[in-house]
Amino acid sequence: MSLNLAETAEAARPARPASRPNGQWKIDGTAPLNGNEEWKQQDNGLNVRERIEQVYSKNGFASIDGTDLHGRFRWWGLYTQRKPGIDGGKTATLEPHELEDEYFMLRVRIDGGQLTTGQLRVIGEISQEFGRDTADLTDRQNIQLHWVRVEDVPEIWRRLEAVGLGTTEACGDVPRVVLGSPVAGIALDELIDPTETIAEITAKYIGVPELANLPRKFKTALTGHPSQDVVHEINDVGFVAVDHPELGIGYDLWVGGGLSVSPRLGERLGVFVRPDKVADVWLGVVSIFRDYGYRRLRNKARLKFLLADWGPEKFRQVLEDEYLHEALPDGPPAPTPTRQGDHVGVHKQKDGRFYIGVTPFVGRVSGTVLTALADLLEKHGSTRLRTTPHQKIVLLDISEENVEPLITALDALGLEARPSLFRRSTIACTGIEFCKLAIVETKQTATDAVLELEKRLAGIEVPHPISLHVNGCPNSCARIQTADIGLKGQLLPDGAGGQVPGFQVHLGGGLASVGRDEAGLGRTVRGLKVTADDLADYVERLVRRFLAERGDTET
Ligand code: SF4
Repeated sequence: MSLNLAETAEAARPARPASRPNGQWKIDGTAPLNGNEEWKQQDNGLNVRERIEQVYSKNGFASIDGTDLHGRFRWWGLYTQRKPGIDGGKTATLEPHELEDEYFMLRVRIDGGQLTTGQLRVIGEISQEFGRDTADLTDRQNIQLHWVRVEDVPEIWRRLEAVGLGTTEACGDVPRVVLGSPVAGIALDELIDPTETIAEITAKYIGVPELANLPRKFKTALTGHPSQDVVHEINDVGFVAVDHPELGIGYDLWVGGGLSVSPRLGERLGVFVRPDKVADVWLGVVSIFRDYGYRRLRNKARLKFLLADWGPEKFRQVLEDEYLHEALPDGPPAPTPTRQGDHVGVHKQKDGRFYIGVTPFVGRVSGTVLTALADLLEKHGSTRLRTTPHQKIVLLDISEENVEPLITALDALGLEARPSLFRRSTIACTGIEFCKLAIVETKQTATDAVLELEKRLAGIEVPHPISLHVNGCPNSCARIQTADIGLKGQLLPDGAGGQVPGFQVHLGGGLASVGRDEAGLGRTVRGLKVTADDLADYVERLVRRFLAERGDTET
């Protein structure tokens, strides 16, 4: 039989190599395909704790093995911090060891953001004694301290663990802190209290070796509050309370959200999860990530890439068939949020008392403020508070007669219950002060801009909150793509041959909220960049123009 021309050409071509494996354990086997996967398999990150306690804390920073320092320490919430004085232009050119200091950022994990005043006092005292009085509320309900020495880490763990706190899996390729509604169990309009479910997940699955080598980080959010207050759309897995017409209150399941590289909002699987099934479903989703997640390239290793390839139907099928071994009922349509979910201001609790949401500037507090807050709350009859995914604090169980005296006292601590528009809705990541990946400063830049905007826009009426999120580099720790105004740190030409700190502007992002039907990612406005010095000018112009030109229903 003779071949035609096309067949001849095809036959002459060398055989195409089979497509490269993605490092999916269930499909490609577990042979590590990159250096990170190699050291994670050689020795689980959780095992570094013993070396910190027995060797590194006794022999000092110089004794720390490089892979432990830059890898496994994260499994216990420890990152080296940036050496002071290195400008953002050197971030990409210096080696990691040239950028880092001998001090650590230590992240205290606070699942559901639930704290007692006793716990808060311990964090505040640790900050004052071991962290040069630093403390930042993160946008994932954690509290981060800086300037921590490895010598002090065992004592810090001892004190945290004595009050039921810790740093286990606060960073690393693991299930990170579980975001939970800051008003769980107390809000008058709550659909369901997720507190016990969060406790079940953390007690059973945090710090267990079986889930301590995931392809990358795995983020969880769970809320029973109708404001949908846990930014579930940008988590790897999210459970949002929903009222099923036949099955009662349960959860709507979302998977595959994440920002940073290739930002993507999570998708609903269309299932209804009964409250007593949440921990099993959570385990199923995280197990899919462990077994099928992509491990070849780290920048393709988040769950969102698997979901993008599979789609929600296949994801649901695999979850039901291979992990739950039962079908989940279909869920009702997605609920829409009923009010703003930052919980700032004074609100009534189920029991007739009140909760008060207060805002420091861009999450920055100090050990001194935290201990003073613990004292103040106890003086006003409360022992409970919550951190929020918006760098805020919610104070619980305040009797009516204590509300106004407490608000006045909180003002003196820099914690405002009735903040201005931008003070309320501005968040900022760590930035160049401590972060080795940063290009620009963030916390002070954002604070200065907010103070200036408070003066310039005093008394102005806006139809809904306008969020300003400030990021120190192209990552998205401050969720720039989900803000009305998102700022991505970069250096800009100064017109005289040099460079100055500035930002690429993203506009129009937002998660589901009142007045906004559905979540959407902000868009980069081509060529629209603003220097740090011009930030307040730019935001003022933008807000005034938006208010002047917006249509009646435009957000
Ligand atoms: Fe650091 Fe960049 Fe994250 Fe900011 S966004 S904390 S600069 S990695």
